Amino acid sequence: MLPSRDTLVTYPDGALDADTVVLHVAPADDGRIAVVTEATSFHPVDAAWPDQPADTGTLTAGAVELPVVDAVVAATDGTELFLGADIPVRKGTEGWSFLVAHLVAGDAAIAEGDAVQVRADATARRALSIGHTACHAAALALNAALAGHWSKAAREDALGAPDFDGIAIASSRIVPNGSVDVYRLNKSLRRAGFDTASVVADGLGELAASVTSTIAEWAAAGATVRIDRDGDGLTDRRYWVAELPVGTASIACGGTHVGSLAELGDVRVEFEAGDDSGTPVLTMRTHAAPAR
Ligand SMILES: [Zn+2]
Repeated sequence: MLPSRDTLVTYPDGALDADTVVLHVAPADDGRIAVVTEATSFHPVDAAWPDQPADTGTLTAGAVELPVVDAVVAATDGTELFLGADIPVRKGTEGWSFLVAHLVAGDAAIAEGDAVQVRADATARRALSIGHTACHAAALALNAALAGHWSKAAREDALGAPDFDGIAIASSRIVPNGSVDVYRLNKSLRRAGFDTASVVADGLGELAASVTSTIAEWAAAGATVRIDRDGDGLTDRRYWVAELPVGTASIACGGTHVGSLAELGDVRVEFEAGDDSGTPVLTMRTHAAPAR
C-alpha cells in the first residue's frame, strides 16, 4: 500500500529511535529495496537541496537488524513510488505524499505490516547537528561582515542584514562538525549592488577573523537554538530559531541541530576564492570543535 500522507518525522526534535510500522516496500536502484514506514527518526537526504546527508543506522524487525545503507526523500501520487532525484514534482504538490525511504540490502527480510524499530546512530547525528548549527551561525555572521559591500537595498536575512548567503549561495554541504558553503560572485550579484571585487581585495583572512569573532561572541552568550515546526509531517515547514544577543533569528530549515551555540566549541571559518567554469566563487569552510 502506498501511503496517502507524509511520513511523520521525529528527528527535528532530536529523536534517534522510533517504533513504527512498515507501510510500503519497493525495489530501488543497485538491487536495494526502499522501506517506507509510518514514522521515522531517520533524517533523509533531500535531492532537491542536499545540504545535510542522511543519518546512518538500522531498521530492526523482530530479531533481524538491517543496516540502512542510505535514506532519501521519496514521493508518491498513490500509483508509484519515486525516489530522490526521480521525484517529478515540487515538495508540497497537491495530491502527493512525501516520504522517507530507508534503503536496505535487496535480500533483507522485511515486509509491509512489519513492526520495526528505526535507530539512527547517535555519534554521527550529533556531528551533523553540530555542523548544521555552525553552518547557519556562520551564514548570519558572514552576512553581517559583508553588509558594507552592498550599494543597493537587498533582501534581508533573519537579523535584518543584506542576505548575501541567501542570494549568492550555490551549494551548502553539512559535514561532521562543519560545513562547506559555495557562493557565486557573478554578474547578477554585482547588478544587485554587491561589490564582488572588494571581497577578495579586502582580504579573506580579515573576513574569516570577523566571522569567527561574531560566532564566538554568540557562543559565549550561550545563544540557544530550537526547531519550531508547523506539523509532524516531512513537508511541514520547520524553522531553526536562535536566540542571539543581537535578536531572534528564524531560518527555514529541515535539518537537525544542537540546542545551543555553546555546544559548538571554538568555531573557525576559512575562505577560498576560486572559479567555477568562469564564474568567480567564494568557498566558506566552517569547523566547529565541540567538547567530547
Ligand atoms: Zn539548515
